[in-house]
Amino acid sequence: MQSKQITRITPADGTPAPKVGFVSLGCPKALVDSEQILTQLRAEGYETAKSYDGADLVIVNTCGFIDAAVQESLDAIGEALAENGKVIVTGCLGAKKDKDGDDIIQKVHPKVLAVTGPHAVGEVMAQVHTHLPKPHEPFIDLLPPQGIKLTPKHYAYLKISEGCNHRCSFCIIPSMRGDLVSRPIAELMLEAENLFKAGVKELLVISQDTSAYGVDVKFRSGFWNGRPVKTHMTQLTQALGELAKQYGAWVRLHYVYPYPHVDEIIPMMGDGHILPYLDVPLQHAHPDVLKRMKRPASGEKNLERILKWREMNPDLVIRSTFIAGFPGETEAEFEYLLDFLKEAQIDRLGCFAYSPVEGATANELPNPVPDEVREERRGRVMLLQEEISRNRLKAKVGKTVKVLIDELTPSGAVGRSAADAPEIDGVVHVKRPFDPKKKLAVGQFYDVEITTADAHDLWGEAQ
Ligand code: SF4
Repeated sequence: MQSKQITRITPADGTPAPKVGFVSLGCPKALVDSEQILTQLRAEGYETAKSYDGADLVIVNTCGFIDAAVQESLDAIGEALAENGKVIVTGCLGAKKDKDGDDIIQKVHPKVLAVTGPHAVGEVMAQVHTHLPKPHEPFIDLLPPQGIKLTPKHYAYLKISEGCNHRCSFCIIPSMRGDLVSRPIAELMLEAENLFKAGVKELLVISQDTSAYGVDVKFRSGFWNGRPVKTHMTQLTQALGELAKQYGAWVRLHYVYPYPHVDEIIPMMGDGHILPYLDVPLQHAHPDVLKRMKRPASGEKNLERILKWREMNPDLVIRSTFIAGFPGETEAEFEYLLDFLKEAQIDRLGCFAYSPVEGATANELPNPVPDEVREERRGRVMLLQEEISRNRLKAKVGKTVKVLIDELTPSGAVGRSAADAPEIDGVVHVKRPFDPKKKLAVGQFYDVEITTADAHDLWGEAQ
């Protein structure tokens, strides 16, 4: 995802405020970093510019996860240098070295003013102050309390921690972002409250490992609304659910590893504020592959756990991602994965053919799977998933589901139900109501009767 935007504030003495262009690439965690930098820029009185030539300086927030993302980031930096010339780079790629241990960005683009790693608001701001001194009189009161968001007004991401304590063999995120650092629970609750007050109707909880929230601070207690609340996933979820209820909003949980304490979250989904939706990145099902991947919770009985969750809440929707063709994956191990998928009936699934990431320890594993076999296996997973998804969505026809509208269209609107996270899942196409007095509006909830389904999306009529 890429967004470019530019912001404007004029100090009281009439001096035009310096303008910063911003290019944001990468995952929702990177997006939150971008929001924090933009919030800080705005707090200090900087403007954001709408074009490269209208900016005094450009910040590029990069992604370094897979090779395609690295290339996209390097291209974006090149474009900003060509169009503007004054460029500060931040984000995951900023922390990445090449085989010789040299900084990748400095090597390809030696003209950039500065490079920082991810989650480095302070460092980025220090570089901005050096290369574009801050306005004389900051207009702190112009800053909205919820900060600056790059998402639409009605949904927002809440990043609860940074970094990761695991060392999955295919991943280099811990080497780029460091070990887990949980944000204080009171700070998170305040941010969530400000977002709800500002009109957010769906809060998406993200991190590298949501189930591990608080491990680094030994689950210490913070205070919220005059009562102690532990820095722990279950207490955070409960507190967010209570807050969301006051504002009639949704909370959606991402990157949840299937540890036993996740069982305690399922009963919280009963009243529809903590959504009956879990994004559980499983990556594989065969125990030997999971061991080679060094996955967290690989010893847990994932299938049993999923079936138990479904028994506790039959409406539960599970999203997951898988890797096909991981080094050493045999045909038998792959078929084990297919059998698991048939049993687990994952609602929303992404599958990637294994792609080596520079610096990942998985690259040294023996018996790499040939490229064409990886692709062929990915195709087989997606074919099976299409059938599973089609059947699961078909079962919704005739039912009425609550839908949050994302955008209006000539024939009505496009929205999402509890089963659909923005950007990654399907959508619900909502027909304009017959009654002209009943209007569909972005950021509002509607009861929608489902009339049609395919393998990804639903269609229905607002009641
Ligand atoms: S859990 Fe594994 S894949 Fe996820 S960030 Fe941590 S090391 Fe990477």
